[in-house]
Formats: sequence, structure tokens, C-alpha cells
Amino acid sequence: MSDDRWGLGVDIGGTKIIIAHVAEGGNVLNQKIIPTNAQQGPLGVINHVIQEAHAIQSAARNNPMSIGIGMAGQILPEGIVEFAPNLGWHHVDLKGLISEALKIPVLILNDVRAATWGEWKFGAGKGFNDIVCLMIGTGIGGGAVIGGNLMTGANNAAGELGHFPVQLNGPKCTCGNLGCLESLAAGWAIAKQAKEAILHDSNRRGVFPGSENNDIDSITAKDVLLLAGKGDQTAMLIINNAIEAIVAGCIGYANVFNPSRLIIGGGLGLALPHLIERIEKGLKERALEAASEKLKVVPANLMQNAVAIGAADFALSSRATAFS
Ligand SMILES: [Zn+2]
Repeated sequence: MSDDRWGLGVDIGGTKIIIAHVAEGGNVLNQKIIPTNAQQGPLGVINHVIQEAHAIQSAARNNPMSIGIGMAGQILPEGIVEFAPNLGWHHVDLKGLISEALKIPVLILNDVRAATWGEWKFGAGKGFNDIVCLMIGTGIGGGAVIGGNLMTGANNAAGELGHFPVQLNGPKCTCGNLGCLESLAAGWAIAKQAKEAILHDSNRRGVFPGSENNDIDSITAKDVLLLAGKGDQTAMLIINNAIEAIVAGCIGYANVFNPSRLIIGGGLGLALPHLIERIEKGLKERALEAASEKLKVVPANLMQNAVAIGAADFALSSRATAFS
């Protein structure tokens, strides 16, 4: 392994894009962070990525072997972004456009799947064959590496851990189903429950930060967490329900995948109080013994570069030959 063999890794997020020079060993040697400016539309955003990729390429001693791009949404196996809700993209041939411009092998994958691969190869899952990653933020995503292979499924949709049903008649989820883990524990769901609590009890207006002047829409999961930390009963109940839903999901993931590491990441996942201990306790009490005895729950550790590193490495690894 040497720093001469490297790949471009790109993380296209809703507000910012990271474009990185990732060495074969997973080190980021150079990177640029730009605003996404989603209002430019797919072509504007993609041209900006191409421009910055060229700049990173010119600053390097040699050319990249490949480019891996992670982004939120439904990515078809052929590299087409079928639907990216946070950018409003429908059926965009991201692989085709990037490949035409950069003339190197291109791999597109879901951002959380890319992060899962990064965590498995270089982060909290390093050295283990079977890991599951649960990323809890505004939404909830996930991924699994089983037997050293990233699970993709028949239509590239394997790993949608946020849409694991934990309450059959629970709240409506963004996917249309009722009671998905995401509908109880994602950032948007926690904020929504707080807004509903305020609307049901007008005395609470002004209690939640940001809810003064009836500006209920500005409440975030962070506000609810903060208030729960101060002992507010409603906020504590919402947070506790979210944690219980996550624990229920994790018992299911342990029984289904039998991983040796369950990696918890995402801004909210790392901020929920005692989440890892609560999951471990739940696993001990309720998961199958065989599924949980070798299992440790650990925090993610690649942080903001996980997607770019994972996408670059996934493309750089032997899998790159399949799509070059
Ligand atoms: Zn759902």
C-alpha cells in the first residue's frame, strides 16, 4: 500500500459537499469543502464537483485510480440517483456525467452505506468481519458489512435500518409506512413530537426554546434534547421513547445480522444520553443469546469524513473493476 495509489472520495450532502484525495490506506491527504447550493439543480452541483475534483487531481503527484461518491437517497446499481429527497433530484445519471468528465472508474453509493464501509475498513469496525452501522441524524440510515462484504441487496436498498418497523401502528414515516424506527427517533420525528406536544397544550408555548412568538416550526431535536437535560417532563418522554425505539431496532438488527460490532453514529446518535449503555442493556435482556454474546456497541469514529473515505475506498478496492 502506498500513497501513490489513491482515489477521489466525494460526499454530496444537503448543505455541503466534501471532495477528498484519499490514499489507499484511508488517509485524507487533501480535501475541499464547498456549499452544495442545491438550487443550482443537478447539473450545476455536478459541474461544481467536477471542477473541484479536477483541482484536487492537479494538486496531486499522479492521477486518481477511481472516484467514489456517496449521497443520500436511492441509488440504482448502475449509478443513477433515482431519488435524492434532500436535493430534489429524480433519475439523475450521476455516474454517466462524472465518468464522461473525469474518464476514470466511477462508483456511486448511498452515503450511509459509504460511511459503513469506511467505518468497517478504517474506523470503529476495523478488524471485524461482521458489522452493522446505524447513523442517527435528521433521518436514520444504516448499512451492514457481513463476511467482509457490503450488503447491497437486489436493488441496492439493503441497509435501510431507519425503516425497520418498531411500532406497527406508530406515527407516519417519510416512506409512507407507520411506526418505522425513523418515525419515532429521527431528528425530524423528535422535533415533530415536540411541536405536537406544544400544539396540544398552549401553556407550553415558550417552554420549548424557539417556540416563543408561536414560532413552533423552528424547534429542532437539539432543543428537545437540551430541555430533556434540564428535566422537562414532555421533552424527557419524547427522548426516552426515541431511545426505546432505537433499542428495539438494535435488538432486531442483532438477531438478523449477528454482527460483532454495532456502530452508532450521526449527530443525534452520538448526543442521545447513555444511548450505547441502553442498547447494550436491551441486547443483554432481549436479544438472542447467540446473536448478542460477541456483540459490542461502539460509537462511530471517522466523523465528518466517513462518507468520502468510505466511497473512495469502496471504489478503489477490487470492486472498482466491476464498473470500470
Ligand atoms: Zn419508514
